Amino acid sequence: MHELGLAQETLAIALDEARRQGARRILCMRLRIGDLSGVVVEALRFALETVAENTPAAGARIEVDRVVPACYCNQCRCEFEVQAHSYICPRCGDISLDLRRGREMDLISMEVV
Ligand SMILES: [Zn+2]
Repeated sequence: MHELGLAQETLAIALDEARRQGARRILCMRLRIGDLSGVVVEALRFALETVAENTPAAGARIEVDRVVPACYCNQCRCEFEVQAHSYICPRCGDISLDLRRGREMDLISMEVV
């Protein structure tokens, strides 16, 4: 399962960071997940809760910020949101495949004690 590997990576980053800060426990992990990342949010949440058991992150709250995908149009020099998998710029009608966000899957912040 793709999400299990991601959960293990995310947990490793979180535990490293907690250790560096001298924290005893992780209370909350906040993730940013793009709608085109291919990550199933609920599966990732479950995997993360599972791998966090018996670690300082056990029972941590998991918050997810979804990111709506956006492309950059070279004609208009603007970013536009990709709606319903349409990569057509709403201003000029050009097709842009220059994806600027929407594929990310990052740990963006944590709360520790
Ligand atoms: Zn355009």
